[in-house]
Amino acid sequence: MRNRRAAFAATATAVTLALSLTACGQNSEGGSEENKGSSEGATIGIAMPTKSSERWIADGDNVVKNLEAKGYKTKLVFGEDEPDQQVSQIENMITQGVDALIVAAIDNKSLGNVLQQAADADIPVISYDRLILGTENVDYYASFDNEKVGELQGTYIAEQLGLADGSEKGPFNIELFAGSNDDNNTRYFFQGAMNVLQPYIDKKQLVVRSGQTELTQVTTLRWDGATAQRRMDDILTKSYKSAKVDAVLSPYDGISIGILSALKSDGYGTASKPLPVITGQDAEVASVKSIIAGQQSMTVYKDLRQLAKVASDMVDALLNDKKPEVNDTKTYDNGSKVVPAYLLEPVAVNKDNYKKALVDSGYYKESDLK
Ligand code: BGC
Repeated sequence: MRNRRAAFAATATAVTLALSLTACGQNSEGGSEENKGSSEGATIGIAMPTKSSERWIADGDNVVKNLEAKGYKTKLVFGEDEPDQQVSQIENMITQGVDALIVAAIDNKSLGNVLQQAADADIPVISYDRLILGTENVDYYASFDNEKVGELQGTYIAEQLGLADGSEKGPFNIELFAGSNDDNNTRYFFQGAMNVLQPYIDKKQLVVRSGQTELTQVTTLRWDGATAQRRMDDILTKSYKSAKVDAVLSPYDGISIGILSALKSDGYGTASKPLPVITGQDAEVASVKSIIAGQQSMTVYKDLRQLAKVASDMVDALLNDKKPEVNDTKTYDNGSKVVPAYLLEPVAVNKDNYKKALVDSGYYKESDLK
């Protein structure tokens, strides 16, 4: 156990800790009596970005479950996509004496000061799914291979349009969407997709009629579906009066649903004007249903159960003076250091394999998708 914990135990009784943690709402406290090791009784603070998307609710639940099974207490907070709110939530958890933090950042550059406070209190920090930038005070990173996510999306588009394998087909019209500019994952997803798509754009087999091809032109603040819908409306009005869009790169299911709404309002989804190929990410229920119904074309499934386990195992190792398992020590430079990472594999899911990937794996029940 790290020194800070011993010092903390000397200054605060278990009773005051329990009281202060119960007093602050949004608690998800627990902890079994089994599995008592040297980290016995430790409390882990978990800061998730928002409840507005299913995945983060599932992430919060999964992390709590994993940690409780190891005998930890937990405190779970959601930042409602407000960076300042997340900063004060983390500050509160530090004041309350959590023993480790798991943080999925809202704004990857806003946490430097608060994580300095965590470091001063010797509280280790796991960056969860999204890398926190510009601070030394991130111990480990648990995520997926984010560039691969984009590659899977780009590859799917190329295959569906029949571009792969050196074919000279085209030109096809494509529009590009990316995630929030304050999320470090955004550039990895976009880069991964453009690794596949850019050569076809260069050869004019793919044409971006809006002309918006730079990451700075295609981001979607806070991954908001309504923002994406407005941008797609605008693009359809300005650039597709006399042409049809054949594919849309979308980085996230909530954005895909917004884009689909814009397309449907413009008359897409009929035999004479079929919906374009449209990607996604997260395998959210609404999007899997849309895939089954033949609207969204694919999504990228990331097994959040595994991610929660990786992050929880990292915390458990750190609090027991062991080295967490990592599989990448090169890719994720946060500007202050290369953060050692454990990266999981994303999986492309469409109508053909959703049952195997999502239902047979127990991620969803068949009835969830009806
Ligand atoms: C996550 C994605 C998610 C997006 C929006 C990203 O950081 O990696 O899984 O779709 O945030 O919530």
